[in-house]
Amino acid sequence: MASEKTPTPLGSNFIRAIVDKDLEQGVYQSRKWAGSPGDAAHQAAGQPDAAKIRTRFPPEPNGYLHIGHAKSIFLNFGLARDYAGVCHLRFDDTNPEKESQEYVDSITDAVKWLGFSWENGQESNLYFASNYFDFMYRAAESLIENGHAYVDSQTPEEMRITRGTLTEAGKNSPWRDRTVAENLTLFREMRDGKHADGSLILRTKIDMASPNINLRDPAIYRVRRAHHHNTGDKWCIYPMYTFAHPIEDALEQITHSICTLEFEDQRPFYDWLLERLAEAGLLAHPLPKQYEFARLNLTYVVLSKRKLIQLVEEKHVSGWDDPRLPTLAGARRRGYVAEGFKLFTDRIGVSKADSWIEYTILEDCMREVLNEGSERRIAVLDPIKLVIDNYPLDSNGKSQVEDCFAPNHPLKPELGKRVVPLTRELWIEREDFMEVPSKGFFRLVPDGLVRLRYGYVVKCTGCEKDANGNVTVVHCEYLPDTKSGTPGSDSIKVKGNIHWVSVTHAYECEVRLYDRLFKEAHPGQGHTEDGRDRDFLTDLNPNSVTVITAQLEPSLKDAKAEDSFQFERHGYFVADIKDSVAGTPVFNRTVTLRDAWQK
Ligand code: ATP
Ligand code: MG
Repeated sequence: MASEKTPTPLGSNFIRAIVDKDLEQGVYQSRKWAGSPGDAAHQAAGQPDAAKIRTRFPPEPNGYLHIGHAKSIFLNFGLARDYAGVCHLRFDDTNPEKESQEYVDSITDAVKWLGFSWENGQESNLYFASNYFDFMYRAAESLIENGHAYVDSQTPEEMRITRGTLTEAGKNSPWRDRTVAENLTLFREMRDGKHADGSLILRTKIDMASPNINLRDPAIYRVRRAHHHNTGDKWCIYPMYTFAHPIEDALEQITHSICTLEFEDQRPFYDWLLERLAEAGLLAHPLPKQYEFARLNLTYVVLSKRKLIQLVEEKHVSGWDDPRLPTLAGARRRGYVAEGFKLFTDRIGVSKADSWIEYTILEDCMREVLNEGSERRIAVLDPIKLVIDNYPLDSNGKSQVEDCFAPNHPLKPELGKRVVPLTRELWIEREDFMEVPSKGFFRLVPDGLVRLRYGYVVKCTGCEKDANGNVTVVHCEYLPDTKSGTPGSDSIKVKGNIHWVSVTHAYECEVRLYDRLFKEAHPGQGHTEDGRDRDFLTDLNPNSVTVITAQLEPSLKDAKAEDSFQFERHGYFVADIKDSVAGTPVFNRTVTLRDAWQK
């Protein structure tokens, strides 16, 4: 299996081209894997790695995942799947602040929900970067011992000044030439809590004149007294992200480390660091390589954890899983489906140039998938009563109840039909009646004919109004020989066709009509009149949710949490995962049938 040539899968992109080439040239053939992450000695004792490539999705557990992360998940897990590889889920939890178990759980849920797994046979490739702190510390001492790192006593302000600018070289720190012994002593004292937060910092010794600012002796370890969710109070020094990340990749034998474009300038440091640690024998070749792709920017939402946290904490939304949020938990509650995200990521592709993707592309993908997979149901969202005055009553003066048959899916007859009961009093949409019709209105008008979908043709005979002139009840008479599906039913042609629900059978239910959370395509972009950055909160759509009481066909009472339906003529709706109780589901509008925002 290891020698088999993997065919190039469809949906190729520049990263797949790199993987193809690496596999062709056998770049990673000599890699070993001991069944768990570890240094060179640990992996050398293992077997040749059966996974042809190893990728990773490395979220920081400091918030919920959003739609941008979905792009990265499909990319990393998708590559592993298509190239007989393995993708690790790694919590990048080296920063002690802001990380919590709630976030860890929400992230594993989201990855599973998108259809991926980090299990590989007996092996679970779910890792926490904080478990590598011991190695990171050892790596830092090794850099010191080999003259590649020093402890700097400059203040943060001094360091900022000596770093130089884009056009000006930096200046060497006066502490740059400390001896190895002195550096080791100071670094150990930092570890042992003998120095105040921010007083000393460990830096690599590279080149203060490098045109790449990221190579001007970047800091790799800082003193920070903070409780860590995994390691508790064991450490009072923590590694910097740019130091930690390459090491995490190397310990996990990652082959292709894929990240977003803002890390492009870090790549030389990534390579420099791993080479130094390989020279010291702590890591072995072939080393992981970093590749960058353009992050997803989506109109009408914000994809930044910082802004999402603000929306949640300031209660602009009901929580991380508010159906209006672009978090994956919110999207799921909204009724978005994993397959729709797959279609979306395939459609937008992977590129090296930043761009904005129209939110409607995502909605179209959801519509496509939901259209295929959702059964049809009848819902009256803005009910008004329609009385069929000539409809038969039984001997007790109660309305006859008659079965009508509605197909569950117009394109899938194998899904059969369900019974919807017809009675004398029905709920219809308020907008389906016009006392004085406008041009081109083919629904209920006085003396007009219309078909009750799956039922009879009726003739409107008038309406009742309240003191304010609002229509309260519409009256009609039915034509007995016109029932849908019976011979001759279409002898009378009508232009309009309206949906309805029996008043005595209807399931009265809360329905939430969600709309976009932001009214601007690029929330917060641009400046105010006095030149300040605009606040993205000012672009919130004040009408992003409307809660209504709707009348639904009785079968919807049995819907289970997360069941999705197309409410005919209205759109796709899902039984809310959180607020639905067995027997009394509530529904969220996922997406309308057509885009209402297009101008
Ligand atoms: P944010 O900017 O929202 O805080 P982040 O990059 O800090 O996101 P991480 O938890 O570090 O969030 O992200 C995990 C992975 O997801 C990273 O590899 C990152 O590159 C990727 N990622 C984050 N946002 C996007 C996005 N908008 N498009 C594509 N990939 C993304
Ligand atoms: Mg990040």
